[in-house]
Amino acid sequence: PYDMLVVGGGPAGSAAAIYAARKGIRTGVVAERFGGQVADTMAIENFISVKATDGPKLVAGLEQHVLDYDVDLMKTQKAVRVEKKDLIEVELENGAVLKSKSVVLATGARWREMNVPGEQEYKTKGVAYCPHCDGPLFKGKKTAVIGGGNSGIEAAIDLAGIVEHVTVLEFGDKLRADDVLVKKAESLPNVTIIKEAMTTEVLGNGEHVTGLQYTDRKTGESHKLDLAGIFVQIGLVPNSEFLKDTLELTDRGEIVIDTHGRTSMDGVFAAGDVTNVPFKQIIISMGAGATAALGAFDYLIRN
Ligand code: FAD
Repeated sequence: PYDMLVVGGGPAGSAAAIYAARKGIRTGVVAERFGGQVADTMAIENFISVKATDGPKLVAGLEQHVLDYDVDLMKTQKAVRVEKKDLIEVELENGAVLKSKSVVLATGARWREMNVPGEQEYKTKGVAYCPHCDGPLFKGKKTAVIGGGNSGIEAAIDLAGIVEHVTVLEFGDKLRADDVLVKKAESLPNVTIIKEAMTTEVLGNGEHVTGLQYTDRKTGESHKLDLAGIFVQIGLVPNSEFLKDTLELTDRGEIVIDTHGRTSMDGVFAAGDVTNVPFKQIIISMGAGATAALGAFDYLIRN
């Protein structure tokens, strides 16, 4: 059996694996797609001490660093079940069952998409999902935020300080964000909020976003906005479906952890975007992965 089995090969899982292996214990990593969300990222400018890098470069760095240690890296393998028996069992989609004394779950999350024409084509070419990451790319330009929940209104307030103008498009007839955020957004001169607006298409010129088309759900009329950027803020979905009824999850499906990365299952720890940490970023996930591995190591030496 493994001493520590890490499920997930993004920044959180990579950090956990390196911290585990450096303790000289038997470490394994199972990753459906090594690199995780970082593999889909272009410019990264907030990975502290590295002024600018990109996703593929950072993923290559993660892999090299992990493989520098004696780690069993099992790529393109998906975990489908976790169960505590004598040891902790992790079943893979291909039917194999891995056993470990401790487990770190770092399966990340994915942004909910609008599923409208143009969205896929213009991803990273104006269609963005992370204002902390990509906001500065639209300095002085016109942008839209799709979604009037807390993350959408927070994004609008955040972007308003950087970009020329922000239009918030909310599908429903009222914003779902907290009152204090709504009041703040409404007070900003360069933020416009449009309710009952259904985005129907992302428009572009073949190279980058030029605008979007939406339907006013009250009148049925179609309208066009000229834009350089579109921030989609309609939810971040944790990759935790396979853990339902196994571990304590929040109502949004995030794994509940404590300050040591412990989950509700003895010997099982978690880190990164799949957990209930408030902020989802590369550097935060790496720190969380290190915490979970140290938490798990502490568990191992006590058990
Ligand atoms: P992830 O990166 O999501 O990795 C999860 C890992 O788990 C993957 O290897 C995945 O294949 C694997 N996995 C999932 N389910 C299973 C399973 N059942 N079995 C086995 N493996 C599984 N953050 C920044 O700090 N700066 C940025 O500039 C930035 N830009 C971004 C741009 C984009 C387009 C996106 C999508 C995100 C961006 N982020 C950025 C956010 C950042 O990528 C995430 O916060 C970070 O990757 C989270 O790391 P993680 O390890 O928790 O999860």
